[in-house]
Amino acid sequence: MGVHPPETGAVSTDGSGPINGATVSMTHPVSARLFFYLYQQVSHAESMKIQSIASDLFYIPLPEVLTDSTHGVMEHFALVTVRIRDNQGLEGLGYTYTVGKTGGAAILSMLEFDIKRLLLGEDPNEIDRIFDKLWWALHYVGRGGIASFAISAVDIALWDLKSKRANQPLWKFLGGVDDQVKAYAGGIDLQLPIDRLEAQTQDNLDRGFRAIKMKVGRDKLEEDVQRVAAMRDFLGPDLPLMVDANMRWSVNQATEAAKAFADYNIYWLEEPVIPEDFQGHRRVLVEGGIPIASGENLHTIYEFEKLITAGGISYPEPDVANVGGITIWRKVAQMAEQAGLPVTSHGVHDLHVHLLAAAPNASFLEAHGFGLERFLEYPLQIEEGFATAPSRTGHGVCLDWDALEHHRGPNLN
Ligand SMILES: [Mg+2]
Repeated sequence: MGVHPPETGAVSTDGSGPINGATVSMTHPVSARLFFYLYQQVSHAESMKIQSIASDLFYIPLPEVLTDSTHGVMEHFALVTVRIRDNQGLEGLGYTYTVGKTGGAAILSMLEFDIKRLLLGEDPNEIDRIFDKLWWALHYVGRGGIASFAISAVDIALWDLKSKRANQPLWKFLGGVDDQVKAYAGGIDLQLPIDRLEAQTQDNLDRGFRAIKMKVGRDKLEEDVQRVAAMRDFLGPDLPLMVDANMRWSVNQATEAAKAFADYNIYWLEEPVIPEDFQGHRRVLVEGGIPIASGENLHTIYEFEKLITAGGISYPEPDVANVGGITIWRKVAQMAEQAGLPVTSHGVHDLHVHLLAAAPNASFLEAHGFGLERFLEYPLQIEEGFATAPSRTGHGVCLDWDALEHHRGPNLN
């Protein structure tokens, strides 16, 4: 129970008088001022409560149909938003997403039926404790999967709320290293013919990018090598080029591919094999001879710990929208730093720009191709290869709710 404010007239003008039945003697005016200062601090701290949580699901059509080696043809992504309002009227926004429409309704259901009742009345400042509460309440059906997506959205909303309350942009609130974050364009382009691949790349260069990622994992390795060679030729010898296999290969296939790509100055090979094969990652890294990035399909801190300690990763790539939110993303980044590794990101670049701007071991920001910018008031801008972390308070993402309304997903009721 919080400290109740004194009723009018309960304290006399000289600072003495009964408060809630107790007599407080403060004849000295300095003592009175000190008492009220302390009272306000305690009262304010104890009065913060989560008053409401609103969760919503939207099926967002992609600007163009996309393909990669694992998810096939993608026409939509599911966007799940969480708005957490405290009892002082301040609101934090969190969100997560899935590929296609799959899983969005399950995340919404967990938020509505399980998480909402666990959050109401909690102090939104106590983010670590709330994370722990949600983690263990959902443990039996969680430890990753849908639960990690739902917790992520909540955690992001809480950090947004907390940094807004502190009147700081999120990246500064988290420690602030550099608001200039180098960024690459993440193409989802496996089925594009080479001329369209190059046209898309030129468009990305025109938009300010100075690093490019392309998909690999076609049916024949020779096709991948041909496309990578064409891209390297198009970009020149030095512009950073990443390739992403989306888990398509066995360890032997991935190692063979890595060796074949080694002639083309590849910045990293992403997700060469299934995410859980930590020793397999190590084999591809050691035998293939080019750096490895992975992590968008790891949804717990424990999985990242195993991958890093296995020595199977050059660029850990946590996704704040599915790894457990900002709380866990930062722990992965710190774990990477302790292992002497940089940290990169996957998806949701409007959030990750803050996290990388606050990470001393930041590598590239992925600018993702799902096209959320059509629903944002302030889309991320890229200049000469760098994104700038916003100076607005919180994460500063302002969604166009009216535009989203046209894409609302199914109602749970
Ligand atoms: Mg990827």
